[in-house]
Amino acid sequence: MKKKILVANRGEIAIRLIRAIHELGCTAVAVYEKTDDKSRHIRLADEAILLGDGPRVDYLNIAKVIAAAKKSGAEAIHPGYGFLAENPDFAKACEDAGIIFIGPSSKVIADLGNKVVARSIMAEAGIPMVPGTEDLPPGNEGFKRAKKFGREYGYPVMLKATCGGGGRGIRCIDDEVQLVEEIPAARAEALAAFNDDSVYLEKVVLKPKHVEVQVIADKTGKTLHLGTRDCSIQRRNQKLIEIAPSRVANPELLEEICQTAVRAAKAANYFNAGTVEFLIDHDFNYYFMEINTRIQVEHTVTEMITGIDIVRNQIKLAFGYELSFGQSDVQIRGHAIEMRINAEDPKNNFMPEGGKQVRVYRSTGGFGVRLDGFVYQGYDIPEVYDSLLVKLTVHGFTWDETVERVKRCLKDFAIVGPKTTIPFYLNIADDPDFISGDFNTSYLDTHPHLFHYDEEIGEAGKLARLIAEIHHCGENPFAS
Ligand code: ADP
Ligand code: ADP
Ligand code: MG
Repeated sequence: MKKKILVANRGEIAIRLIRAIHELGCTAVAVYEKTDDKSRHIRLADEAILLGDGPRVDYLNIAKVIAAAKKSGAEAIHPGYGFLAENPDFAKACEDAGIIFIGPSSKVIADLGNKVVARSIMAEAGIPMVPGTEDLPPGNEGFKRAKKFGREYGYPVMLKATCGGGGRGIRCIDDEVQLVEEIPAARAEALAAFNDDSVYLEKVVLKPKHVEVQVIADKTGKTLHLGTRDCSIQRRNQKLIEIAPSRVANPELLEEICQTAVRAAKAANYFNAGTVEFLIDHDFNYYFMEINTRIQVEHTVTEMITGIDIVRNQIKLAFGYELSFGQSDVQIRGHAIEMRINAEDPKNNFMPEGGKQVRVYRSTGGFGVRLDGFVYQGYDIPEVYDSLLVKLTVHGFTWDETVERVKRCLKDFAIVGPKTTIPFYLNIADDPDFISGDFNTSYLDTHPHLFHYDEEIGEAGKLARLIAEIHHCGENPFAS
């Protein structure tokens, strides 16, 4: 394929995309903001176009990204995740400009990006889901309906921004007084974050597991699943660690969920790669939550256990290729764990550590280890972007081997400068409940001991102490 593809993103996912583009024999065009001009994706691409001064406004500027694509002669745009990835106006602007948007159509993105519309499509297709309301109407009528729902289904209830995403705009409400209080606040927050003040209610699934299914579909309607991922280990409804396949000890249930995901994708006329998210309760009931219409951060675990390059397939499908394999070709081998190594301080409510310099970066490696990152020694972490530095994904033949491998990697991964989630993850990898699979989305709240650890472990600890010593003598540790 001799194509030119623009990558409308930054950080680790931009690099992931550029690698796939190069492996396909295509040319990659990067875009960037001035505030992000040290990012490695800029140098890895074949060309790079400055969008503007930033921060965060130019990566989100549809007209500027389309203009960059036209200027460079790119035939397609891959949006990655975040930024414009789930913006139907952006997909539409690509369609109108005759540029291939690597993802589903703008119509599908618009339908599925609205949680209430998505739920109605799924309800029609008979997909199981938790009870919920439509959008709450404005004014008194909204409060009335909300109270009625609370009385009918009992508390707690989930108050969600209809157009929300990224774990934001979700509030767990314990009683009617709080419900009345929080609806206006939730609306204001939703308007500011998602440019839409619609909110609705869902019944809460108590202590659920978050299990999702990777699906992939070509333009003929052939729709396959690539198995399950468990993403229950979250903070503030955002994922930290993901596992594939799910370790729920009920293979028939997991198979049924995969089949349901394929039905859900077909019901939405889904094209390209997507993720169908579910919650599973204590009694093994499962409920549709949403479909993410893009590549997911945690796609790496699925790639490791299936051997299928999802991004490569996304690109080929967008250029009109049909899926070259069938469901029976998708074989799950072993286990994979992804840990999102963020510049954050878990002990301080996961406060981002942006603004610091990566003074030492010594990555791990070895058998069954995959790294998707973009930072390097000497990199100043901008404060204005998200805190993900590198994703550590390991693959193992057995679960125990996979856990041992991830522990070994965490110990020999040295990042000095910002605090990171590495030492915290080592506690998780050592935790009997994590190892046995006995965890749900409340895991961090119910395991406070995970937050007790030494900041500097293994290699990173030794290096940090060494740097401090040299620094004390007034020498530059990186002079030579
Ligand atoms: P994923 O669903 O891909 O596993 P997350 O659940 O962590 O990833 O985040 C969902 C989406 O929201 C991603 O596209 C991510 O880039 C985006 N996102 C997460 N946090 C933020 C944020 N603070 N601001 C903007 N977008 C965000
Ligand atoms: P987003 O679009 O921000 O990813 P989701 O609807 O996918 O929002 O929900 C994100 C997370 O919030 C889930 O993984 C889960 O932990 C929690 N959550 C969402 N809905 C419910 C619910 N009805 N009951 C319990 N937890 C929920
Ligand atoms: Mg979600």
